[in-house]
Amino acid sequence: MSVKPLVLLPDPVLRQVSEPIVSVDEAVRRLAADMLETMYDAPGIGLAAIQVGVPLRMLTIDLSKEEDEEKAPQVFLNPEILHSGDERSIYEEGCLSIPDYYAEVERPAAIRVGYIDLDGARREIEADGLLATCLQHEIDHLNGVLFIDHISKLKRDMVIRKFTKASKRTAV
Ligand SMILES: [Zn+2]
Repeated sequence: MSVKPLVLLPDPVLRQVSEPIVSVDEAVRRLAADMLETMYDAPGIGLAAIQVGVPLRMLTIDLSKEEDEEKAPQVFLNPEILHSGDERSIYEEGCLSIPDYYAEVERPAAIRVGYIDLDGARREIEADGLLATCLQHEIDHLNGVLFIDHISKLKRDMVIRKFTKASKRTAV
């Protein structure tokens, strides 16, 4: 297992649409392990494969907060939102690819998600609260969508400008 470098805004890789995983093999399991390690190292509560530069439809999530709390890693392959409830909720979101920037985003409060687990079994879960928000944020990544796409254009342009400047500074 190893910690992978994170892809940061404004890298165009983040806008790529990820490909479905066709078989759950050793390489997929190794990627899941690397993504979990990268996510814990950051630290973050969710990570999409594209954020470590791999355009495959895979997410890792762990919502256990306290450091002494037992880890609760969840891995979702080819996740798909099957149903979104009418009720909406607002969470302040952040993203490991957009460090130190947070903004409120409104999304459906409850969703049903279909996915494949690491044993290759087809599963479905009902999610609400933080898990619903986190799944929607990460599934967006698989489609090249970032949480800043859900905020006002003015705020989005501001944050993109800030990160573009920062990336130019580190490039020289
Ligand atoms: Zn993110």
